[in-house]
Amino acid sequence: MKPQTTHPTVTAGSFQFSRLVNGRPEKRSNLVDAMQTDELKNATWMFVSPHDDDLCIGAGLLMQAAVQAGVEVQVVIVTDGCLGYCGSDQKDDIIEIRRQETLRSFAVLGISNSQVNFLGFPDGGLTRFIGRRPAAEGEPMFGSYTGLQNAFTHSLRELRPSRVFVPTKMDLHPDHQITHNELMISLFHASGKIWPELGDPLDVPKVHEMAVYCDFPSDPHLEIVGDAAAFEVKLQSIAAYESQLQIAELVQRIREDGPYEYIRDVEFRLYSPRRYRSLFSPQS
Ligand SMILES: [Zn+2]
Repeated sequence: MKPQTTHPTVTAGSFQFSRLVNGRPEKRSNLVDAMQTDELKNATWMFVSPHDDDLCIGAGLLMQAAVQAGVEVQVVIVTDGCLGYCGSDQKDDIIEIRRQETLRSFAVLGISNSQVNFLGFPDGGLTRFIGRRPAAEGEPMFGSYTGLQNAFTHSLRELRPSRVFVPTKMDLHPDHQITHNELMISLFHASGKIWPELGDPLDVPKVHEMAVYCDFPSDPHLEIVGDAAAFEVKLQSIAAYESQLQIAELVQRIREDGPYEYIRDVEFRLYSPRRYRSLFSPQS
């Protein structure tokens, strides 16, 4: 199939943000305030997606807002879409069909082909790629190794994001659960000194998660509301996956839900006995 050129432009929509502070919503006037950061212009945000269409569903508005604010958005697509055929005529070409749809979808959001990274793991087959091991012929490889921890550590050290976004592990699809778990452990690998052939260690990025199909594990912290133009762009980016015959119903359902997205901040809490001592201290 002939590759199609995509010409992304920064979308013209506008956005409103609210952050929950002590359980109460506070309006934030722009993305800088919403993300509680000093600046965004030199920032790289890495969006990790088990399947090609998860990110535009869960964060199609946020990604537009990030591009508008000057953030370098990098997208990492974990699986190759090989199980997503809806007719026997698609079966042989579905990986390439979905690859082209993916590039078109992200171009609609203002994200160019060079910002979309395909890891090429088999759709629905991530279980045997948990961890890191020497690669067999034909397996996705970085260095001479394969596995999600190998690939994520390589991506993190190469792209060097200050923030990482990933769907929650509450989704029922094993590809979502495995992607989330493997990314979390890879953040520690990437910040340490192991596997030096995968790149230089980086500071652990902040981590945020989005809901795609199932609820958050606990309440999210940030609300993004897009205007009508931004919402149409989000819906168009989802509709780009036209090989998926159920896509029209999905677009309609998301249209009915309205231009709202939510993001949950993920806190790493490493174990310390000090956290629990007060529970067992005699009451004074
Ligand atoms: Zn998915």
